[in-house]
Amino acid sequence: MQEAVLVVGGGVAGIQASLDLANRGFRVHLVEKNPSIGGRMAQLDKTFPTLDCSMCILAPKMIECSHHPNVQLLSCSEVKDVKGSVGNFKVRVLRKPRYVDEKKCTGCGICSENCPAEAPNAFDENIGARKAIYMPFPQAVPRVAIIDKESCVECGLCEKVCPAGAVNREQEPEEVELDVGAIVVATGFDMFDPSTIPQYGYGRFKNVISAMELERLLCASGPTGGHLIRPSEGKKPRHIAFIQCVGSRDRREWVGHPYCSSICCKYAVKDAVLIKEHDPKSLVSIFYIDMRAFGRGFQEFVNRAKTEFGIEFIRSSPGEISEDPKTKDLLIFFEDPITRTVQKIRFDLVVLCPALIPSKGMPELAKTLNIELDNYGFVKLEDSVRKPLDTTVPGIFCCGYCLGPKTGDIPDSITQGSATAGRVAEVLAAKEES
Ligand code: SF4
Ligand code: SF4
Repeated sequence: MQEAVLVVGGGVAGIQASLDLANRGFRVHLVEKNPSIGGRMAQLDKTFPTLDCSMCILAPKMIECSHHPNVQLLSCSEVKDVKGSVGNFKVRVLRKPRYVDEKKCTGCGICSENCPAEAPNAFDENIGARKAIYMPFPQAVPRVAIIDKESCVECGLCEKVCPAGAVNREQEPEEVELDVGAIVVATGFDMFDPSTIPQYGYGRFKNVISAMELERLLCASGPTGGHLIRPSEGKKPRHIAFIQCVGSRDRREWVGHPYCSSICCKYAVKDAVLIKEHDPKSLVSIFYIDMRAFGRGFQEFVNRAKTEFGIEFIRSSPGEISEDPKTKDLLIFFEDPITRTVQKIRFDLVVLCPALIPSKGMPELAKTLNIELDNYGFVKLEDSVRKPLDTTVPGIFCCGYCLGPKTGDIPDSITQGSATAGRVAEVLAAKEES
């Protein structure tokens, strides 16, 4: 019988692991909790340091994955129970209802055009709205609509207009039982909530936004068509600040993330360059503790940002942001590290770069899989030097940012996805021989 592997998480690391395993002849069950695979990378406009289009790299992999004869894609699904051991795991997966038949839906979008109910668009970080029946994003895989029952007003219009008869508002959850030889965890990360640090005014001041919100504003397929605007009145911001390490490298107990998140310096410089490319007249400043732009080509990219694009780097961690109630402009207060005096600068828009934290469902998944987590809630390795992809349970492996900041960036996640596939093959082959 063909050996099967469960991959949990359909971000770029999980997709790469699935593709490599499938190409080696394994049957792969890719379980994703969201309605589409793609993960965080799908939300990004460009990647650093080459400024390549993120979706142009990701979309072909997503499509290849969904069309691969050895891959079964289980979206809107969660692992509920795991029993057994390496070579012989029995897994129970819960498939949540989409209320749209995956086999019938053609992704035509007629249902969304006619649906009267709206809700904030989570893919766009809640900037703008989407309908109660919607496509998660234009390049979603599978390209199947989903109904959000919380915002649905049960008018039945989608059912009436759907030319494929795909809407099924009575759909029930379903359980799937899988027999697999190994499990790969690739659950990625979540973002620290910047409102935890009230001094920065996130959630109170409209023009203080998060880096992921900026990504969606800069993205041509985002809620403003790629036009950077101030949320307070929709005008173009001219003086923009980035603040690094919001929740990272912070030992205060109520923040609780003392580690460096490893990618924020690099993506902030990338976004600063993108802003300058959109509007060369804008002034962009980056407040940082120290610039951690490790990896091939990154320091050169930082140098270019300074010399070619005129981006200002201010070595200071701001203490507070205040808002002018009339203009909604923002004042950043910070200590000048040379004069040791408190300074303030006015900005139109402030972008906070939050810590990357373990994905919300990680503790529950760890319990289900019986794997250990480290002090910060990322997956603990059995031996980070000799077995850098093995969890504490034989036969369960991991890749991507669920391992924590040691992963680094997108190329690292892809490399780890491939490496994990190799490791799974090695362990299952050894098991067969024994
Ligand atoms: Fe089109 Fe029907 Fe699918 Fe909506 S549910 S996208 S109308 S096929
Ligand atoms: Fe929209 Fe719900 Fe009405 Fe369908 S039944 S059109 S999802 S509000």
